[in-house]
Amino acid sequence: LVVLTDVNKHYGDLHVLRNISTSVARGEVVVVIGPSGSGKSTFCRAINRLETIDSGTITIDGKRLPEEGAELAKLRADVGMVFQSFNLFAHKTVLENVTLGPMRVKGMSKKAATDRAMTLLERVGVANQAQKLPAQLSGGQQQRVAIARSLAMSPKLILMDEPTSALDPEMINEVLDVMVELAKEGMTMIVVTHEMGFARKAADRVLFMADGEIVEDQTPEKFFTAPSSDRAREFLAKIL
Ligand code: ATP
Ligand code: MG
Repeated sequence: LVVLTDVNKHYGDLHVLRNISTSVARGEVVVVIGPSGSGKSTFCRAINRLETIDSGTITIDGKRLPEEGAELAKLRADVGMVFQSFNLFAHKTVLENVTLGPMRVKGMSKKAATDRAMTLLERVGVANQAQKLPAQLSGGQQQRVAIARSLAMSPKLILMDEPTSALDPEMINEVLDVMVELAKEGMTMIVVTHEMGFARKAADRVLFMADGEIVEDQTPEKFFTAPSSDRAREFLAKIL
């Protein structure tokens, strides 16, 4: 579904993505881990073109990422993104947050968008919050709304960048549970997270990044028990 070939990205002198080549198949769940500054967010953001790349190619469904315009808007609809900081529209209700994209981008009627939004909010367990503003919800509830909002666009792929790292500990599991469900239902997901429980339960592969490179690409079992690089061993020793 997603193929990256020799992708490079610099910020000035800083080489943040170094010859990244990897692919993600439909239905696959890939967890990306690695030290701070290793390029994990840049990797995610490049895939839905929130960041440009300097060289190499990224394709989704065999098509190069579009540069701009209507094609780019379509790409963004196909590739959902969930951020650490929820990024909900503060002045819109929970329900409006979920219906807006399908109505604006997909031309869905208000009725159809509302029905679908309520189904999704039900699924992530916050249907009873539909008429509230985001600020009236807990962090865990807001993040579940953000997941429902991205699902509302029927994306081919969802990118999640540390979706639980801004949450209080007691709210982490309610979000991880939704993520595990999605993974089980066959959603293609690329998830930057240090939640090893999620990686063990749901990931097909773990990509370990360091200094802009993919240093390891392993099954979770192998990665956690027998990482093949010193970098990964050092990193795991710190976080486990
Ligand atoms: P973290 O775990 O802290 O989120 P990360 O692995 O997601 O880190 P990135 O955010 O991808 O890392 O950043 C990779 C490197 O690029 C870092 O050194 C960062 O400081 C730098 N960087 C990121 N965004 C920019 C930018 N807009 N301009 C300049 N440098 C940037
Ligand atoms: Mg990051």
